[in-house]
Amino acid sequence: MEKTLSILKPDAVARNITGKVNERLEAAGLKIVAQKRLLLTKAQVGKFYEIHRDKAFYDSICEYMSSGPVVVQVFAGPNAVEVNRKTMGATNPANAEVGTIRRDFGESIERNVVHGSDSQENAVAEIAFFFSQMEIVE
Ligand code: GDP
Repeated sequence: MEKTLSILKPDAVARNITGKVNERLEAAGLKIVAQKRLLLTKAQVGKFYEIHRDKAFYDSICEYMSSGPVVVQVFAGPNAVEVNRKTMGATNPANAEVGTIRRDFGESIERNVVHGSDSQENAVAEIAFFFSQMEIVE
């Protein structure tokens, strides 16, 4: 079973649509094997999004992701990374395919409901960023 990291971003938590998003991912064949609600500091988000440090939107995404509670999750299933990315849709909700999470619930390119790891390698690193082995129950 492959694993991937998913984050229900502050816009999804504030709008109380976490169940709707989970429903989509579960229907796609993924299972929640770890989950916790966190209020991240701007510094913690900055570390998580380190790869985007030089991008124009870096400060804005750090502010936004630390602006309210998030729910971080590990999903497991066959081809979890790819299935998660496909179910989530493109970064910009306006460009995301009809029927994807971001297309149906996303408010803007920044407030786009969910994060999902973009490769198996990054999934391993991102899961380790938030969870200990003990917190993941397959
Ligand atoms: P993802 O893998 O689809 O989440 O996309 P990226 O890794 O490229 O970007 C990480 C996150 O930064 C996205 O999910 C958005 O929340 C945000 N983001 C990406 N591009 C932009 C942008 O051009 N402007 C703003 N404000 N935020 C962006």
